[in-house]
Amino acid sequence: MTAAEVPADVPAEVAAEVAADVLVVGAGLAGLHTATLLARHGHDVLLAERRTGLGGAVRTTGIFVRKTLDDFPLPAEHLGPPIRRVVLHPPGRGRPVTLDSARDEYRVGDMAPLYRAAGRAAADAGVRVALGTRYTGRRDGAHVLVGPGGPLRVRARFVVGADGARSRVARDLGLDRNRALLVGAEEVFAVPAGGRPPVFHCVLDPSLAPAYLAWVVDDGRHAHVGVAGYPDRFPDGLRGALERFRATAPGLAPGLPRAARPAEVERRGGPIPVGGLLRRISCADGLLVGDAAGAVSPLTAGGLDPCLRLSEHAAAVLDEALRTGRAERLSAYDGAALRAGFRGRLLLRRGLAQVRTPAVAAAAFALLRTPPGRAAARRVLFGDRSFPNPR
Ligand SMILES: Cc1cc2nc3c(=O)[nH]c(=O)nc-3n(C[C@H](O)[C@H](O)[C@H](O)COP(=O)(O)OP(=O)(O)OC[C@H]3O[C@@H](n4cnc5c(N)ncnc54)[C@H](O)[C@@H]3O)c2cc1C
Repeated sequence: MTAAEVPADVPAEVAAEVAADVLVVGAGLAGLHTATLLARHGHDVLLAERRTGLGGAVRTTGIFVRKTLDDFPLPAEHLGPPIRRVVLHPPGRGRPVTLDSARDEYRVGDMAPLYRAAGRAAADAGVRVALGTRYTGRRDGAHVLVGPGGPLRVRARFVVGADGARSRVARDLGLDRNRALLVGAEEVFAVPAGGRPPVFHCVLDPSLAPAYLAWVVDDGRHAHVGVAGYPDRFPDGLRGALERFRATAPGLAPGLPRAARPAEVERRGGPIPVGGLLRRISCADGLLVGDAAGAVSPLTAGGLDPCLRLSEHAAAVLDEALRTGRAERLSAYDGAALRAGFRGRLLLRRGLAQVRTPAVAAAAFALLRTPPGRAAARRVLFGDRSFPNPR
């Protein structure tokens, strides 16, 4: 990047300078996991996060799928009860389709403590975690952070962009950037224990959730009520859709969430990349992980499993590059090669994007009542597929 291209908000006067093997930008699940793995390999890692606390401003519902629960040691005390039932609802108040699994398919993470626990694991591994510290860009070959103590220059061998769907690091490294984005919003509130089974309700109605779905996840501890879709297709905006959905959402105990006082309702939301894994996600200076790399299922919009798996691959490639001193090893981190595993899901996403009216959604929903339709839904919701294994 030339001096003329340096963004205006990168401070010109930076007195303090630190060095690290790797600067990781963003302490979501992807950044935390990548930083921890690298530090466990013995590398000096600085993790910069603009939020002042890891448990604040949570964006995600936090539904972990069975494959993730099987393969990653998430702290059980921060996971809700297992969910085995999914109820699919057509537009309006039509007859739903209920799918039950013999296995524990989902658990909803209690995300604030879960992020904090991941932060403690990172610190224990030796990661220097800098909260309230924003990455602003590159100047004269160094990365410039702005933290509580003022601007800071970081000289790092590699930078990892774990800074979410609208990654600034991706832009600065000249890598691919997410173009196809859904936006999602949800409200979370405690529910009274009632002895009912945990249920994941999905409403397929493009007037509420254009080209995606509206959801109620009630695991007996918390209910999450949310909508997501293409931002330009909500008839009355994302907030309007969420308000309409809240008024009719299925599966909630009577009086909820209207009975909850605003202070008791947590609001979450943000962009969700659904264009599939980006092709160019590495260069000689660094790489992208998580949402920044587009590592989200284009069909289900689930990103927690992909971000953990891709972070493992990223940490292995970076470790090798650091140990051998050969930056070209980062070329093994190849989004184009991994993207092939998303072909089917990208095709289905294109199909979903065509469902623009409740009438078309109702017609498509009729297929879910047939045995092949139910089998296909079970494959998507209860299947064993996960993010393609990079190794
Ligand atoms: C409403 C909603 C619900 C979802 N529900 C689910 C679900 O139930 N299950 C599922 O599997 N997936 C879900 N997803 C997707 C999933 O949450 C994401 O794919 C996943 O959390 C991505 O993690 P990440 O670490 O890549 O990004 P993020 O969690 O977005 O972390 C990026 C971090 O970078 C920080 N950052 C950004 N810019 C800077 C900067 N300049 N300097 C310093 N720090 C910076 C941000 O503050 C943030 O902490 C959902 C997404 C949304 C929006």
